[in-house]
Amino acid sequence: MKTNIDCDYLGAEKWVETKLDLLNWFDEKTPAINNVGRDYSKAYQTIESHYMVLERMLFEILWRSDCEIACGLCCFFPDDESVMVPVEKNRLKGLRDSLRSQNKKPEDYVKLRMLSELHPQIRPKISAPKKTGDFITQHGGLDMIYFLRTKPVFPLDKSRLKEAPLLRGGSKNWLDEGCRQCVFLEDDACTVYDTDFIPGSCKNFMCFTGFIINILGLWGFISRKDKGKPLKVLNKAAFEADLVFASPRFKELEEQRQLVFKNLVESYLKGFGVAESHKAFEDYEQKYFIDRKKLFKPALSLLNTQPR
Ligand code: SF4
Ligand code: SF4
Repeated sequence: MKTNIDCDYLGAEKWVETKLDLLNWFDEKTPAINNVGRDYSKAYQTIESHYMVLERMLFEILWRSDCEIACGLCCFFPDDESVMVPVEKNRLKGLRDSLRSQNKKPEDYVKLRMLSELHPQIRPKISAPKKTGDFITQHGGLDMIYFLRTKPVFPLDKSRLKEAPLLRGGSKNWLDEGCRQCVFLEDDACTVYDTDFIPGSCKNFMCFTGFIINILGLWGFISRKDKGKPLKVLNKAAFEADLVFASPRFKELEEQRQLVFKNLVESYLKGFGVAESHKAFEDYEQKYFIDRKKLFKPALSLLNTQPR
């Protein structure tokens, strides 16, 4: 239940991309900044703290973003096997060893499928190991892949379908009445989440709703309690928030913020105009936070919450 930036988010994903670009830009400047030498001027401290906040935020969004909504619905899969969780070859041994140490049979937890027989939606992903990990093992000269099993006696409750989280730019996800829960899911929680053999696609997946709500939480706009609100409400708020991310007004606000930050860094490197650039940056930061709150207010009002 984690972040997969492969998803086609409308606005928030693009925003994250611009932040990654900024981080890369700053990384390129770092040797030059180090040549100038660290000092304890306000400008230097501002540059350093802006960079650290940016880096931390991206780390939380992309690499350490546990889903606090934790509905467990991304762990239900359809009967037609169009959505299945493959297990990387290098995780299989750990998985098997762990199951055997609990007197469980690995074959009750993973199933073997031939690459050539996979659903057309799955096959290309599995065949591109550079992007997704190495899954293919050879059995009898055939390309085979291990997938997690589902529990046949635990179908998805119909009533939960209406509240399923959104995917891909706010579209409906794969869930239907025929879906069954992953063999490792218990009480909507993954029992192997913190192990070394959790499949990479589980570790990296985050639905659209979880992704956006996570960012709003990192900004301090919503609390942990808000994340427990009904999924129907969270979906709507996430969808509205993503439209804000995609809006020209928000993009303009962000572009200007990047510009004043870059000006500050360049002035620092040149050694002149630093005081003016620093003031311009600090003034813009105030405006940025006020305007950002205003822009997201309507989306947050759907959760009956106000940006703090
Ligand atoms: S909100 Fe999304 S990512 Fe989080 S548990 Fe539910 S379906 Fe999975
Ligand atoms: S292994 Fe865990 S995270 Fe992955 S589908 Fe199963 S229950 Fe969900």
